[in-house]
Amino acid sequence: MPAQPRQKRAVSIALAVLLILAVFIYHGSNTWQAEGPVLSAPAVPEVAGLVPAVYDIDVMLDPHTGTVVGSSRVEYTNNQEVSLPEIYFHLYPNAAVFSQDVKRPGRLEVTAVGTDSGQLLYAMEGTLLKIELASELSPGEQIVLNLNWELTVPDYPGRLGENDGVISLGNWYPVLAVYDAAGWHLDPYYELGDPFYSEVGRYRVKLTLPNNYKVAATGNLTARRRLPEQQKELVWDTSLVRDFAMAVSDDYAALEQQVDKTLVRSVFLRGDKAGGQRVLKTGAEAVEFFNGAFGPYPYDQLTLAATGFYQGGMEYPNIVFLARQFYGLEDADVLDYIAVHETAHQWWYGVVGNNQIEEAWLDEGLTEFSTILFYEQVRGRGQEEARSLISLYQAYQQANGDGKILRPLNEFPGELAYTALVYGKGCLLFLQLREEIGEELLLQVLQTYYRRFAYKNATGEDLIQLTEEVSGRDLNSFFQEWLH
Ligand SMILES: [Zn+2]
Repeated sequence: MPAQPRQKRAVSIALAVLLILAVFIYHGSNTWQAEGPVLSAPAVPEVAGLVPAVYDIDVMLDPHTGTVVGSSRVEYTNNQEVSLPEIYFHLYPNAAVFSQDVKRPGRLEVTAVGTDSGQLLYAMEGTLLKIELASELSPGEQIVLNLNWELTVPDYPGRLGENDGVISLGNWYPVLAVYDAAGWHLDPYYELGDPFYSEVGRYRVKLTLPNNYKVAATGNLTARRRLPEQQKELVWDTSLVRDFAMAVSDDYAALEQQVDKTLVRSVFLRGDKAGGQRVLKTGAEAVEFFNGAFGPYPYDQLTLAATGFYQGGMEYPNIVFLARQFYGLEDADVLDYIAVHETAHQWWYGVVGNNQIEEAWLDEGLTEFSTILFYEQVRGRGQEEARSLISLYQAYQQANGDGKILRPLNEFPGELAYTALVYGKGCLLFLQLREEIGEELLLQVLQTYYRRFAYKNATGEDLIQLTEEVSGRDLNSFFQEWLH
């Protein structure tokens, strides 16, 4: 149900007061310290039944050639009940899409793999790295793997790629594949949707790059120092996160604002200051609202960064990529909607994870629903933008007949069907569920879901059971009808 006018006014007055009290700090000058304040290392929560992987990544970026020379030390614990003779990593930059129609093809080449006691046999195939262990890793046992690698960043407007003066580093380093009750998940990089499934881990990333470049990244910036030859070294430490992403430019400026325990930052190209200001305001409002609606965001910082990503926006832990092409005033509503959507993903994908390949509706449907909730309760206007994907679904349904939401990414016939069904129909499912059990109960469901599955991966079945548990209703046929 939409907020009543009086509540809406109270919310707007509260927001106005917050904005007046907020301290805006502008990092627009050409300082080598443009990454914002150095924070202390984050607290790392315990997760029952999971010893998270620990990544220690050391990289040097040459922005002129688009090359990254890196090494990773990865502490991996076998959290499963069976012994593992091999371990897999994804090498997403080797997906064909990063090499087609570009001058500088993307490539992630692993040059050595070993443990502290010697080299290991490994094989690269497509977007996978398979490492043969010298002896099987028993349940509960831990191994430390050392990987050397080299990345070429393509000139491509993607999650990974250089475009519009920004180097986007999304899905850019060797990242562990997930082993769960179904075994290893070794899906390739599908071009549709967000083809990812990941466990949380703890990261320390040390980056060396030229002084005049500025970086937006996952985690807390915990150290920086000048190096000889106009270089600098930056270090980030993270809490438990599913991935580590960065965006780099020599033309970045930043604005920031504290919201509860989180420093919200907007990082944008210097010519886009008005757009950058709007993004900061939206990001701060969204964090404030979702903190109250679903439960507090547990991280110390969240950055909304302008990048050359052509598909609107992309969520990563503690950082979202927003398409720089929408920073003009004429696209203010589109940018606003994307910023809210990607911020909502910090709750649904970031804290509560899921297999985005098998059950894309779970995070996307919930994120779209959260976005509509934000517009209803915070803005009381602008819902046309937020509801555009529902209209898309309705048009799709009229032209093509209805379609199944619940299917893996590679079983959608194309972009239109995926967007209409996963986002549009996925969102309608939650709007209809609200009609069915009421908004108060639905928010109670989502708050419980957020607490219970924090730092874990949930399934659609988990959410269905939880909804039945909290509402005391049998909703099986409701969900079956919507999903199948
Ligand atoms: Zn999304």
